[in-house]
Amino acid sequence: MDFKLTPVTEWGLKNKRPILIAGPCSVETESQVMETAMGLKDANIDVLRGGIWKPRTRPNSFEGVGSVGLKWLKDAGRALNVPVTTEVANAKHVYEALRAQIDILWIGARTTVNPFAVQEIADALRGIDIPVLVKNPVNPDLPLWIGALERLQAAGLTKIGAIHRGFSTYGNSAYRNNPHWEIPIELKRKIPELPIIVDPSHITGKREMIHPVSQKALDLDFNGLMIESHIIPDKALSDAKQQITPDRLVEIKKALLLRDVSTSNEAFLEKLVEMRQTIDGIDKQLIEILSERMNVAKQIGQCKKENNITILQKDRWDQIFKERKSLGVNKGLTERFMTELYNSIHKESIKQQENVMNDIG
Ligand code: PEP
Ligand code: MN
Repeated sequence: MDFKLTPVTEWGLKNKRPILIAGPCSVETESQVMETAMGLKDANIDVLRGGIWKPRTRPNSFEGVGSVGLKWLKDAGRALNVPVTTEVANAKHVYEALRAQIDILWIGARTTVNPFAVQEIADALRGIDIPVLVKNPVNPDLPLWIGALERLQAAGLTKIGAIHRGFSTYGNSAYRNNPHWEIPIELKRKIPELPIIVDPSHITGKREMIHPVSQKALDLDFNGLMIESHIIPDKALSDAKQQITPDRLVEIKKALLLRDVSTSNEAFLEKLVEMRQTIDGIDKQLIEILSERMNVAKQIGQCKKENNITILQKDRWDQIFKERKSLGVNKGLTERFMTELYNSIHKESIKQQENVMNDIG
């Protein structure tokens, strides 16, 4: 589906780049949201956020104050003179948010996974061109994310954006939700006009990592940040560990470097062209060499076939994997990259041998 969107620069927000959305994970009390908003004055934010209905993993956690908080959020936004945004997960939330004059809606990660829920929200919004931001689904499924955006566009909305909040992890991870940056980058490639906001709070799950992940988001040229901020983070009723004080947000904002996307500096541009040509040449060589390697793999496949030997020779593979990894690491490549590279080479090699041994292709 082709997207015909109203550019985010025409949504009436203060800052064009980067857009900053901040505010508490949850609206808890009238004073908490008002004090947080007032604290955010110096951060010059574009939009005040606050969750009213909270999708929590386990029951008996704080599930939000409900509709009563909509007015508190709106009043705090008025006092700060910025639009406000909250999460909606069904048609009832949409109607109540619209009635309370909430300016921007977002669809949470646990809702984006469910096409029925997204469709219900899209239908409830038919005929109303309010900005809607769609968080990625919890699972790393780009078509599902795009499908939600398509449902909104099909309902006539044109102010649509995405929020990258990372993908669920299981077991040990440095992140609460793995960023898999390649997924939002691919989304940007597929729908260039779609604004993408990065949510370092839910990606990291811890306040210490908000700054570096925010910097990374800006360096990857995403359109903005959504950062959870609470007047007393440690007392927050949800996501306490990842929330930061308004003062800390001001500090982070000052420290963030906003690099240019392009330049008119001739000398730099010439040098860049030259270096890119070098890269193009190296890539051609890489592909030549990889193809040569696969040709040898095919010959090995032929030999194995003639001698009735299995494709996978575990000891040989273990040895290659170890040796190549350390060769790469000694040359300054990361262990993770070498692991991914050799897993990929090995997979292709097996496939090529399979084709030869089973007379496919
Ligand atoms: C939130 O923004 O507070 C929230 C619940 O986010 P997510 O849907 O990304 O988990
Ligand atoms: Mn949260």
